Amino acid sequence: MSTTDCLFCKIVEGTLPSLKVYETEHLYAFLDIKPAHRGHTLLVPKTHCRDIFDAAHGQDARLGEEVLRTMQRLAAALKEVTGCPGINIIQNNGSAAGQTVFHLHWHIIPRFENDGIPAWPQKKYESQAAMNDMAETLRNALSCTN
Ligand code: AMP
Ligand code: ZN
Repeated sequence: MSTTDCLFCKIVEGTLPSLKVYETEHLYAFLDIKPAHRGHTLLVPKTHCRDIFDAAHGQDARLGEEVLRTMQRLAAALKEVTGCPGINIIQNNGSAAGQTVFHLHWHIIPRFENDGIPAWPQKKYESQAAMNDMAETLRNALSCTN
């Protein structure tokens, strides 16, 4: 997708409206239009990037530091303003994972006790050997790509 077709690029440029809550040199934060709770905020890089896989190629390595610092600030502000005892930070990659806007973004979501938002299921490996095998396969994949 070209950046001219991207909803969040248009929001960053200001050609589509948004309710900005914060920005830094490389990041823009605004209210989600369909919040899980009041204050649900989206944090996006100002430069277009599709998802976490794309980010590994295009983005400045220092962006990670700025993202973490900014998420901490947003989470603290949301806690103060909404009184929420908890916060989820969620980032979807690909439609199978629930991504609907293909410009990298983090959801910062206030959470309350028993607020009815479902968690993912907690399944089991079929055996300890299957779990060991998964860890080993992943370690091998990671050493191959680095
Ligand atoms: P995701 O499903 O992770 O791709 O999340 C996309 C999010 O963008 C959803 O939570 C939408 O509610 C939100 N969204 C879509 N359009 C807008 C918009 N124009 N302004 C603010 N949030 C939006
Ligand atoms: Zn974009």
